[in-house]
Amino acid sequence: MSNGPDLMEKLVSLCKRRGYVFQSSEIYGGTGSVWDYGPLGVELQRNVKEAWWRSMVHERDDIEGLDAAILMHPRVWEASGHVSGFTDPLIDCRACKARFRADQMESARCPHKPSRMPGEYEDCKLTEPRQFNLMFRTFMGPVEDSAAAVYLRPETAQGSYVNFHNVVTSTRQRIPFGIAQIGKAFRNEITPGNFIFRTREFEQMEMQFFVEPGTDDEWFEFWKTQRMEWIRSLGIRAEKLRFEEHAPDALAHYAKRAYDIQYEFPFGWQEFEGVHNRTDFDLRRHQEYSGRRQEYVDPVDRGKRYLPFVIETAVGVGRVVLAALVDAYHEEEIEGEPRVVLRLDPRLAPVKVAVLPLVKKDGMPEMAVRIQKAFRAAGINSFYDDSGSIGKRYRRLDEAGTPFAITVDGESGSDNTVTVRDRDSLKQERAGADGIVDFVRQRIG
Ligand code: ATP
Repeated sequence: MSNGPDLMEKLVSLCKRRGYVFQSSEIYGGTGSVWDYGPLGVELQRNVKEAWWRSMVHERDDIEGLDAAILMHPRVWEASGHVSGFTDPLIDCRACKARFRADQMESARCPHKPSRMPGEYEDCKLTEPRQFNLMFRTFMGPVEDSAAAVYLRPETAQGSYVNFHNVVTSTRQRIPFGIAQIGKAFRNEITPGNFIFRTREFEQMEMQFFVEPGTDDEWFEFWKTQRMEWIRSLGIRAEKLRFEEHAPDALAHYAKRAYDIQYEFPFGWQEFEGVHNRTDFDLRRHQEYSGRRQEYVDPVDRGKRYLPFVIETAVGVGRVVLAALVDAYHEEEIEGEPRVVLRLDPRLAPVKVAVLPLVKKDGMPEMAVRIQKAFRAAGINSFYDDSGSIGKRYRRLDEAGTPFAITVDGESGSDNTVTVRDRDSLKQERAGADGIVDFVRQRIG
């Protein structure tokens, strides 16, 4: 099977063809590294978020959900250290205007001479590195002056910190417990790219787990293991996943320890989730900057009060989507014919089942419509398709990653049965039309 950049090209093209991901504002020439999720992409994204929310919030007693606003008081970002410290070192080329991250020069290429590194081509005129803040700045209200400046949040985490006491009071949760959020974040990345891997607007699924100081190492290990299990539970191949610890000198300004969970993308091993021990850094700074006490008082042992430590798990929705797509993409040959198939886990697959009348006559479309209605009523996302040969319809479904196809054929009308085709094994079995919803439901998990 193809790998590397070639695979990325094929995947980007499949995503466009089948309606997973489109270039943003394409009719105007596109916006750099901004992508829109199409009809199938939005379903895949929703399934990823749903799986995360279920495992983090609904299946646990000790995590509460939250949806904080994107725009926050500007002092939040001073307290969090993002105004002064959320920067990347930027190097410009004065000759060709290309921009590079100083810490990624080893893998960078001169746009004029891609065989050379920046600085190696005689025309390159590189500047010294300067710090560039990654936060997007905008203005609240009609006056565009510095007093009205606000930022688009670069992480959802701060919304959880400033609401820590609101959540404790309203839910009566006791430490240890967590706050989970899914929401958009924005970073003015210097070198976005690799399709949806690094974008300037993206969605995060973050959970802040508040613990008693001294128990943080234990909880850090706990969450590290949990998060790896979760991603494996989505059907991602274990051999494509690994942990990578951040070197002490590469830690973010708030972190005591950090692990990345990495996936082997066609462009190399890269982070898609971070597990961080953020200590009491954020709550301490909010206490200092807001003048409001952020200490937790144990409701049973009232003499016990402390600033909790935080273990954070942070993952980008787009990166999980990309890992799932890369992992699922397969090219094979079936009876001498090439086939492209997305072997997405049925829980992630945008459409779970297609209903296909073999031909558009003899009552087959009517029966197929009835079956599709039953899937709709059961809340199982389905798709009706009667156009083109059955072979072509199967190929389209394989590329779209639809795990099951139900075909209504000549026998269906007389014996009330249909065939069920399995996307991965290609096995076709006959099943009763009346029990078909349960039949599929059991297989999609
Ligand atoms: P990177 O080193 O890739 O820039 P980071 O270490 O800055 O990432 P975190 O601040 O830990 O990332 O953010 C948590 C998660 O948010 C990342 O693991 C990733 O899944 C996602 N993420 C961060 N930046 C982006 C981006 N520009 N585009 C898409 N997802 C992102």
